[in-house]
Amino acid sequence: MSKIIRGYWDCSSCDTKGIRGDVRNCPGCGKPRGDDVKFYIKDKEYLSDEEAAKVSHEADWFCEYCGALNAASETKCKGCGAEKAASDKDYHDLRREEQAKADAAAAKKAARDNAALEAQRAQAKKKRLIGFGIAAVAIIAILMAIFMPKTSDATVTQVAWERSIAIEQYQNVEESDWELPEGANLHEKKNEVHHYDQVLDHYETEYVEKTREVIDHYETVYEYEDLGNGNFEEVSHEEPVYVTETYTEEVETPVYRDKPVYQTKYYYDIDKWVEVRTSDSSGKDHNPKWNEPTLASDEREGTRTGVYTITVEMKKGKASVYELEESAWNGVEVGDSLEIKQHHDGAAEIKLPGGETIQATRIGE
Ligand SMILES: [Zn+2]
Ligand SMILES: [Zn+2]
Repeated sequence: MSKIIRGYWDCSSCDTKGIRGDVRNCPGCGKPRGDDVKFYIKDKEYLSDEEAAKVSHEADWFCEYCGALNAASETKCKGCGAEKAASDKDYHDLRREEQAKADAAAAKKAARDNAALEAQRAQAKKKRLIGFGIAAVAIIAILMAIFMPKTSDATVTQVAWERSIAIEQYQNVEESDWELPEGANLHEKKNEVHHYDQVLDHYETEYVEKTREVIDHYETVYEYEDLGNGNFEEVSHEEPVYVTETYTEEVETPVYRDKPVYQTKYYYDIDKWVEVRTSDSSGKDHNPKWNEPTLASDEREGTRTGVYTITVEMKKGKASVYELEESAWNGVEVGDSLEIKQHHDGAAEIKLPGGETIQATRIGE
């Protein structure tokens, strides 16, 4: 069996359809086939080997004087007798021109559609940006409200102080530590866990399912080439057909464990000063005093601490307590009008009536 298939064509002048490819003039109206002819296959009709052997592989040429298509073997137009010129278009040139025109029209339409779509997108984007802008302004306003320092006027309603003296006693205590202090009386040493190190213990094998494309078999694919003269040639090639294959991959994952690190710990008794009580004093005036505690023979005074506060009332009637340095606190009187710049973390700068600014910390309401 040959690979040549008979083509057919339709007459555009009289609408006669299905005219055989080897017929050059329309049986309906007698006009020769012209530049708008496009061959097609009907029922895949193979020519006999004998017929196929006579089929040319060259396309018909187009006579631009009378518009007829002529066989490649003709040197003069069958319609008007004009000489075949080297510049004459053939069937394929005509098809290419037609395709180019169709492509250009499609491209023009795509460009128009694209432009319309772009305009639509730009509009939507503009709306979104305005939306973002409004949201961003709102968020910034909220953040500013939270984090920006707030300045408010306040009046001092109370000043207060608290002082404390730690009282220590010389005692014998039992302790343990990683080092033995001087003067300690060692009882025993133990090997104990000081900390943990992360060490590689082993690897764990994990099985991961994966997929890949592999060739399963080949398939013959047929294509039909328009010879441009009323016939088609069948060409075939083999194409691979893929299947998805599942396979298992081994992955080694390290597993760590905590390894204890041991060190010597000392257990001992030692004589040392230990805080046993405090001696406290307080007042709501500007005369802070330290107590004069009575000490036993094995006691002594330890650290002294003092807290100096002011209570203020804001314009809205809200009260707040601030802790100040003693020297700054000394300069604040009940009834003073203050300007307080409050930060969100509790820190504050307080402007005194004299214009001086002091640092303070809000410790309560
Ligand atoms: Zn016709
Ligand atoms: Zn002609």
